Amino acid sequence: MNVTSQTPLPKPAPRQSDPGILANEIVERLTYRIGKDAKAAKPHDWLHAVILSIRDRVIDAWIASTHKTYEEEGRRVYYLSLEFLIGRLMRDAVSNMELLDEMTQALSSLGVDIDVIAELEPDAALGNGGLGRLAACFMESMATVDVPAYGYGIRYVNGMFRQEISDGWQVELPETWLAHGNPWEFERREASYEVGFGGLVDPAADADASPNQMVWKASERVIATPYDMPIAGWRGKRVNTLRLWTAQPIDPILLDAFNAGDHLGALRESNRAEALTRVLYPADSSPAGQELRLRQEFFFSSASLQDIVRRHIQYFDDVRTLPDKAAIQLNDTHPAVAVTELMRLLLDDHGLDFDEAWSITRRTFSYTNHTLLPEALESWPVPLFERLLPRHMQIVYAINSRLLAEARRKGGFDDQAIGTISIIDEGGERRVRMGNLAFAGSHSVNGVSALHTDLMKQTVFADFHRLYPDRINNKTNGVTFRRWLMQCNPGLFGLIREAIGDKFMDDPEALRELDAFAHDSAFQDKFTAIKRANKEALSNLLRQRMNARIDPLALFDIQIKRIHEYKRQLLNIIEAVSLYDQIRSHPERDWVPRVKLFGGKAAPSYHNAKLIIKLANDVARVVNHDPAVQGLLKLQFVPNYNVSMAEIMIPAANLSEQISTAGMEASGTGNMKFAVNGALTIGTLDGANVEMRDHVGAENIVIFGLTADEVNMRRAQGYEPRKVIEASAELSQALTAIRSGVFSPGDPDRYRGLIDGIYDHDWFMVAADFDSYASAQRSVDTIWNDHDAWASKAIYNVARMGWFSSDRTIREYATDIWKVPV
Ligand SMILES: *Cc1c(COP(=O)(O)O)cnc(C)c1O
Repeated sequence: MNVTSQTPLPKPAPRQSDPGILANEIVERLTYRIGKDAKAAKPHDWLHAVILSIRDRVIDAWIASTHKTYEEEGRRVYYLSLEFLIGRLMRDAVSNMELLDEMTQALSSLGVDIDVIAELEPDAALGNGGLGRLAACFMESMATVDVPAYGYGIRYVNGMFRQEISDGWQVELPETWLAHGNPWEFERREASYEVGFGGLVDPAADADASPNQMVWKASERVIATPYDMPIAGWRGKRVNTLRLWTAQPIDPILLDAFNAGDHLGALRESNRAEALTRVLYPADSSPAGQELRLRQEFFFSSASLQDIVRRHIQYFDDVRTLPDKAAIQLNDTHPAVAVTELMRLLLDDHGLDFDEAWSITRRTFSYTNHTLLPEALESWPVPLFERLLPRHMQIVYAINSRLLAEARRKGGFDDQAIGTISIIDEGGERRVRMGNLAFAGSHSVNGVSALHTDLMKQTVFADFHRLYPDRINNKTNGVTFRRWLMQCNPGLFGLIREAIGDKFMDDPEALRELDAFAHDSAFQDKFTAIKRANKEALSNLLRQRMNARIDPLALFDIQIKRIHEYKRQLLNIIEAVSLYDQIRSHPERDWVPRVKLFGGKAAPSYHNAKLIIKLANDVARVVNHDPAVQGLLKLQFVPNYNVSMAEIMIPAANLSEQISTAGMEASGTGNMKFAVNGALTIGTLDGANVEMRDHVGAENIVIFGLTADEVNMRRAQGYEPRKVIEASAELSQALTAIRSGVFSPGDPDRYRGLIDGIYDHDWFMVAADFDSYASAQRSVDTIWNDHDAWASKAIYNVARMGWFSSDRTIREYATDIWKVPV
């Protein structure tokens, strides 16, 4: 017998993963953590017990990941985002820890169905749409490709609202995702910081203070306390931290006031602080210009920067080396105020001189732009910014004067160019432009698709691009294939493994080997049967939830995304109205049975978007009840579109609608999820659709409509939508029907304003693209009628979408921007 003299440090025993052991672990958690036995346990208790057992395994890997030293890791990445649209986590964690089969068996041995309890987990919906979902995919991919990273955001008590449809109208209700607690989070009170607002700025009093050193005496202060969630990468390789801040009052209760009988006043401070992290602003592609929003932005930026600087000083004791050890990525301009907060910390707390502080700041930050829509570019009135953040206002002015001096020194910038570069918008009410601040304060500014990046260079940042020609770069978005293929579509996942083996699980570009099966009729049959099963599952769900009857044999044509005029749900609905008319006029033709599904939330203040939801429901009511089109056309609006709903709808799609006005969708990521699940895309040459066409092949995607250049040209030439409408009998008929109340007989004027907008200006080019869209839809019908053609194109889509994995995107960020080895 060998006896060793070394006493190892206590360490958790390695965990076994056979189903019997897992089942014991689950029962143990159920008994001792939840306090119930298997007989008394309700489905929620089982879910909780499963999460606690998988969580322990995630924590083992988490601790191992955090034990890697800075020396080993080099630079760390900090991803600042006001939104993380995470969805459910249980299946993600179980699957990434490679325990899905074992867990399913373990639960089944206990008489529990994993799918049933998985549905009970609430969606963590701390985001609006694509931007927030991108942040969530990136967190998973950063862990997967082994980038040491922290996500920083806000722990909203009420995330994205829950949408109900009442009489066809959107109704917003609060979502209470924390009602049953959140077993994934850990409160870290020891890492709390104070965040200030308002007050005064005085020059620093000490004799050796530098001239730039100031003392900010905030009039209002709150405590930022973090909650950490572990994010496990694929195969549990690395587990990173998502750190979400919550606001708490410094004095939870003002006892003097309370004792004097002012019970409400005594809680004033507490309510005020808690309001900061209570709700997510439900706006997408339009800025939420209220003061509370700026407070949220500063609150989480300040807490995150204090945390990053504190961690750096603790390890390296020299703030000057920050850029060597930290890369901070700004997800849109929402955290752009962080640029001024780092400057404040460097100038006022660490006493650096301005030029050195500015150099450190620029080398640390990089910024991702997500939109070119002028109305969506964030800016704040100077008086508001100054009142809330007086020291940061001074810093903005100081940065701006150096920026403009640099442009003047370089030459070639006239007054107008200087005006567009300026961080202060001097036209009319003076405003602080957050995009300009983010651009000036970063060493890298990236767009999210090739087209969007080009347009960024030509439009919003054209003058900045002349001043700093090396700064703008492209990072085309991607999605995580773990969630958006392997988990949401187990049937297709299994079929791919059977055909080409497991390599694609670690290298998505290996999906390309499926090319060889595109015309293999046995494979096609299996592929089609899986799609059919997914359609049946969706059809059953819609029957249960909303008593909808949709035929799984019909072509499933799906448009799910935030409701916005530029995304052109209206174009899709108008085409449906036109198709309805044609089916009725020509019942003898061989129409392809179609189900058009819509889903998406409208910002509560966005009148036209809400009206478009109502129109979809009004048209659905008429069409679905008309015996003349029975079985040929059906419309259904699916309420409360969110990540979990996307996971069910996308695998069931035959056709993916990506029909934005060219030049207006920065990238899109919904487009990628559909294609990798075997849907054909009908779309414009916008955002990442352009690159998708290059990858899947022009013959495997249905492109229509004006290009971004053509849209600009048409506008410049004086676009007259009325003439276009008059020249198209089908479009005229559809618009007239909607406008005159055919679908809203009880309120015939309901859609007059909406349709008149198309006749008058049609900013989103609905009329200009209509005929091209309608004929593209008929070519979709032709492909559908040729089973081999449809199946092979769908298979080519799956095979050639590997490049759109967010692992590829993250490797590009790591290599080009963060300089982190991957
Ligand atoms: C992917 C996704 C989006 C983004 O969709 P786009 O079509 O790119 O706008 C929005 N919401 C949810 C829930 C998603 O999963």
